[in-house]
Amino acid sequence: MSATPKPAPRQLTGTVLLRDAAVNRDTAFSAPARETLGLLGLLPPAVETLPQQVARVMDNVRRQASDLDRHLYLRALHQRNETLYYRTVRDHLAETLPLIYTPTVGQACQEFSRRFQAPHGLYVAAQDRGRIRDILRRWPRPGVRVIVVTDGSRILGLGDLGLNGMGIPIGKLDLYVACGGVRPEACLPVLLDAGTDNTALREDPFYLGLRQPRLQGEAYDTLLAEFVAAVQEVFPGVLLQFEDFSNHSAFALLQRYRDQLCCFNDDIQGTGAMGLAGLYTALRLNGEPLTQQRLLFAGAGEAALGIAMMVTSALVAQGLSKEEARRRCWLLDSKGLVVAGRSDLAEHKRPYAHEHPPLLDLQAAVAALRPSVLVGASGTSQLFSEAVLRELARGHARPLVLALSNPTSRAECTAEQAYAFTEGRAIFASGSPYPPVQLGETTLVPGQANNAYIFPGLGLGLLASGATRVTDAMFFAAARALADQVSASDLQQGRIFPGQERLREVATAVAVRVAELAYAEGLASAPRPADLDTAIRALMFEPDYPPRP
Ligand code: NAD
Repeated sequence: MSATPKPAPRQLTGTVLLRDAAVNRDTAFSAPARETLGLLGLLPPAVETLPQQVARVMDNVRRQASDLDRHLYLRALHQRNETLYYRTVRDHLAETLPLIYTPTVGQACQEFSRRFQAPHGLYVAAQDRGRIRDILRRWPRPGVRVIVVTDGSRILGLGDLGLNGMGIPIGKLDLYVACGGVRPEACLPVLLDAGTDNTALREDPFYLGLRQPRLQGEAYDTLLAEFVAAVQEVFPGVLLQFEDFSNHSAFALLQRYRDQLCCFNDDIQGTGAMGLAGLYTALRLNGEPLTQQRLLFAGAGEAALGIAMMVTSALVAQGLSKEEARRRCWLLDSKGLVVAGRSDLAEHKRPYAHEHPPLLDLQAAVAALRPSVLVGASGTSQLFSEAVLRELARGHARPLVLALSNPTSRAECTAEQAYAFTEGRAIFASGSPYPPVQLGETTLVPGQANNAYIFPGLGLGLLASGATRVTDAMFFAAARALADQVSASDLQQGRIFPGQERLREVATAVAVRVAELAYAEGLASAPRPADLDTAIRALMFEPDYPPRP
């Protein structure tokens, strides 16, 4: 097993020690440590335990006026005391995740430059071409094993946010640590600043990115190629996760690099695995076979295609031909139903362009196709109108509705709408969280359909096995592992994903299956332990202050 090497203990003292988030303990420095480390007088006299510190942090989190303030408070804590930050998040996952990740991270990205406090991660800009290796070498912490990179061109459903997209790699890597048990020093967030086509941002006096239009074509490809080559040279064997790239580069990048290094695109592949897991679980609730499902996707971008491709593979595994399997998946984009006659279709949509008369709106498509599953991946708020949901419920006893778009302001419908307009028959999950809904005597608990259930465990499994590539079969295995984590009591409440407080347990289960596959496919570079489950659990980072001599 390939654990992240533990950094050598550093003998920092005094204020330098208190300012180093990796080793700072604030009020948890013991009395003898304060003597030997030059801390006398630099801290209030009380000596606290980590749980006492966590209690204060949560008290402060709850006192903040808004979720964005809570996010910023936690970010500042991350910069000051890493152990306390991760312990707080780990111990209060369900409460803190919506603050450090979706949905609050959406607003945090929109205001990233305005609310900027301190640098975190690496910024690689268009003008750095020719010296990207030097920039990567400048990263001070040894032991990097996973990089999450974005160019900010499609942040959640919020479009091009340029450099402000840095909130996403930071948030994703926080989940690698808090849920996947990857060590903090193994994580490196990177923002590739290729410019922005968001003119409002370019004119914002506080904007911190390049004030130029996005690089296009060859100039953009050259920047990416230099970045990927530099990553391979400076951090050999690293896992590279592409995140929130606009769909015209996301599919091409994945195609270009997936066979060259250990990399994946979370929006396409991670979402695909999460969506398939949700479908598997919904079928346990409505008792139907996968082969009888018809899916209609509102949106034909990365998320929709990722799920469509994963469902196609699952159907092929159950005996359908590829053509038959694809015909179970229908896409509708901003110009209407994706059909064979359309001349404006991007390459990635064509396999799903079936023979059908053109249809311009979603309600008409639902009426014509009678889907059993309606997936929202359009970034368009309220696209699942009352009329659409009623039409869906007319055609199916227990339709599955996935309103995946993030943040909450972009969700295709709320949980309440999905249940109310289908007389409580819809099986519902959404990308951003919604509270339980009371419908008559019944309380329905919407699950959160978020790829946070996939990538931390996937990453852990890849790192633990030292995998050299990420294969489709690994996502398939991750989907199965996630579906298996949904309990009978989750199902009873109508929840098709486990509760967020179980994310760490889910990540462990996903990691074991992914690592198993890496060994089975001959892609693992680490020696295989006798018991994968035990070995993976032993590798997982537990946020705690190490004992001091
Ligand atoms: P994308 O830009 O690749 O695709 C968006 C698609 O929506 C495009 O095909 C576009 O034509 C289509 N669209 C836009 N307006 C539409 C409309 N009115 N009707 C029908 N289609 C319309 O984006 P993506 O990566 O696929 O992400 C889409 C959304 O899904 C985002 O909000 C993102 O945050 C969310 N997402 C959620 C998860 C999750 O884990 N829940 C994972 C990935 C993406």
